[in-house]
Formats: sequence, C-alpha cells, structure tokens
Amino acid sequence: MHEGLPEPEYRKLWDTISSAIWDELDPLEQRIESEERIPYDVVLPVLRESGTFGLLVPREYGGSGLSIAQYLPIIAEFAKIQGGLRVIVHVHNSFAHALSEIGNAEQQAAILPGAATGERSLAFALTEPEHGSGADLGTTARRDGADYVIDGRKWLITNSDLASHFLVLAKTGTAEVSALLVERDTPGFGIEPLPETMGCKGGEHGELTFDGVRVPASALVGAEGQGQEHLERALEISRVFIAASSLGTAERSLELSLQHAQDRVTFGKPIGQRQAVQRYLAEMAIDVYALRGMLADAAAKWDAGRRIPAESSMVKQFGLEAVGRVTDRALLVHGGIGYTRRVPIERLYRDARLNWLEEGTPTIQYMVAARELLSGYTFDDAFGASPAT
Ligand SMILES: Cc1cc2nc3c(=O)[nH]c(=O)nc-3n(C[C@H](O)[C@H](O)[C@H](O)COP(=O)(O)OP(=O)(O)OC[C@H]3O[C@@H](n4cnc5c(N)ncnc54)[C@H](O)[C@@H]3O)c2cc1C
Repeated sequence: MHEGLPEPEYRKLWDTISSAIWDELDPLEQRIESEERIPYDVVLPVLRESGTFGLLVPREYGGSGLSIAQYLPIIAEFAKIQGGLRVIVHVHNSFAHALSEIGNAEQQAAILPGAATGERSLAFALTEPEHGSGADLGTTARRDGADYVIDGRKWLITNSDLASHFLVLAKTGTAEVSALLVERDTPGFGIEPLPETMGCKGGEHGELTFDGVRVPASALVGAEGQGQEHLERALEISRVFIAASSLGTAERSLELSLQHAQDRVTFGKPIGQRQAVQRYLAEMAIDVYALRGMLADAAAKWDAGRRIPAESSMVKQFGLEAVGRVTDRALLVHGGIGYTRRVPIERLYRDARLNWLEEGTPTIQYMVAARELLSGYTFDDAFGASPAT
C-alpha cells in the first residue's frame, strides 16, 4: 500500500503548488501563447521552489514521494492553466516515476536526487518518423564490447530542450526491445526542434538523431530485451496521468461555463436560465463526475500495489472523449467570444487535443483494453465483492 505523504504535509504542498499555479504561472498564459515559447528563466525557478519537480520522486531521493491519489489532483490543477506548462510537469514527473520503478539503484542514485530539484530531467524517446505507434521501432542498440551503439531517429520528443537524460527505446535483437538512458551531450546524439504545435504551446518536442551513439552497458534500464515490459509498465500509470489532465481541463471549462451562463444576458435573462443551455452544463458535469470516479478507482488500485492494464487504457480513452465533449460544449456556452483569446476556452479546447496523442492514440487504447479483457483480465467493481462473487 502506497500511503504517500502524510496529510498535513500534503496540504502544505498543495497550498504551495496551488499558489505557484494561480499566482505565478497562470499570468504567463498570454505571453506564452503569443511568443510560442515558455520563458524558462521565469518558469523553472517557480517549479523548483514549489517542489513540483519532486512530486513523484521517492522521499529517500529528496522528493515528496506522493501516492498516485495525491498526485492526480495536482496534475489536474496544472491542466487548468496554459498547456505547455502542464506538459513539462507531466513528462518530468512521469518518467522520474518510471525510473524509480524500473531503474536500478545506481541509475536512481545518479538521476533522482537531481530530478527532485529539477537540476536533472528525463525525456522519453519512443516515437519515430519512419515507424509507427508503440514499439514499431527502427532505432537499434548494438552490443559492442562493454558498450551499446545506438543508431536511428526519434521525433516529437517532449522536453528535448530541457532534458538531461533521454530514456530511449531501441531494438537489441530482431524483436527484442530494450530501454537505455542516453545523456544529453553524448557524442553522435543530435537534437533539433520541430515546428510549433496546435496547443500546449511553448515547449519543445524535438527530433533526435543517433549516429553511432556509444553508451556504457550500465545505461541499460532493466534487462536486455525487457524494454517492452518496462514500456508497458511506465505507460500504464502515465495514461492515468493523461486522464487526470483531461479532468483538469474539463473542470476548468465547466467552471468558466457556469460563470458565463450566469453572467451573459440575452433577451433579458441569463442564458443559464434557458433549458437548452442547462442541458449543456449538466452534460459537462456528468462527464467530469464520471471521469473523477474512474480516476479514483484507478489510483486506489495502483496505490494498493495492483496492476491496472485495462483500467489505464479505459480511463485514458474515456478522459479524452469526455474532455472533447466538455470543451466542445464550453465553446457553445460561450458563443462567439469563446472563439477569441479574450477567454481561456479556445486555448483549453486546443490544449486538450494533445490528450488524444500522448501515451498512445485511441486505436491503441482500444487494442490494449480489448487484449487484456480477451485474455481473461477482470476489473472488479468499485464496491468490492459484488453479490454474484
Ligand atoms: C506534442 C506532442 C508531444 C509528444 N511527446 C512524445 C514524447 O515525449 N515521447 C514520445 O515517444 N512520443 C511523443 N509524442 C508522440 C505521440 O506519442 C505519437 O504521435 C502518438 O503515439 C501516435 O504515434 P504516431 O505519431 O507514430 O502515429 P501513427 O502510428 O502514424 O498513427 C497514425 C494513425 O494510425 C493509427 N495506427 C497506427 N498504427 C496502428 C496499429 N498498429 N493499429 C491500429 N491503429 C494504428 C493511429 O491510432 C493513428 O490514428 C508526442 C506527440 C505530440 C504531438
């Protein structure tokens, strides 16, 4: 059972992070959206001082060691403000958490203390330009004496401008996939930015080239050929983090829509008094409520030490559909002004669309959930043993 941080300390951390989000980061929204760059000189100190980089780093390495149930409301809160900021926080914490689960003691001791303070940061390098979703890989890591030599290309790799280490998935046999840690300045390793994105603007999602990049065998994370299993474990919980991001964006959209429905008067009455608009609001709330419930179930199971292979894909998929519907309706409730930058709805709408892609597209989530169910996996109900069992 993962208890996380004791409640009084968690409350204090929540207050610190919440004030960093709303007092220091949210006011940067217009600047980031117009410059399409995150001002790291302002943002990184705020994230460091608020303890955001160490949220999922175990306490023995200087982090807060939050449980998943404690982390989800925080990543959801970040998903209410400018999306590029949420993405930095998500990728850093997600892969620091993965390293704390799949890295060996030496790798953890080398990276996690720096990750807790934000001096070191991990990026995750799976996707490739010449290959497709998931572990369809062309990048290879060939054993040569005491080293591995990596050749290939990756793209769309978030935090490529910030990361000190890249967790790279590469083929070490005809079918076997392995995970290797590559340091930023390793000879033969190139990083180039890609064009700016539709939403979640301001961060870099770069293109990586590996041209005979030599790393020591100690860079291997887990055993050779076990990269696919590690990938699945890392994505399993990271998909829940994306679903929590969907929740935060949906909650903010609902909150703004409720306010607008009360403020905006047409034909002498606030639009919130019209049944047609009330229906939009109620439908938005139903999605938010359902997503919260699914997330609570997934977090409770993971914190109890269980695997959640089907639940993670199901909540990720439901989350993106829910935030899709909620941001659509938020746009309808706001009318024309919602389509402008006067209000955050148009940004929330664009930001949410990244949730379709992060940690796998919908077809992949359906495939994973169905594969688990067809091979006999059952997800018990939230009320414990049902009368039938
Ligand atoms: C802003 C941003 C940040 C990102 N950050 C990262 C990152 O940090 N690290 C990283 O590794 N990746 C990252 N990605 C990449 C992202 O995970 C992928 O774009 C996504 O998983 C889809 O893979 P793809 O682009 O190769 O699409 P493709 O695999 O080309 O898919 C195209 C379409 O075909 C479908 N499809 C493809 N193969 C199959 C199949 N076998 N069965 C059924 N349907 C299939 C897909 O569902 C999709 O609809 C990022 C992407 C974006 C946009």
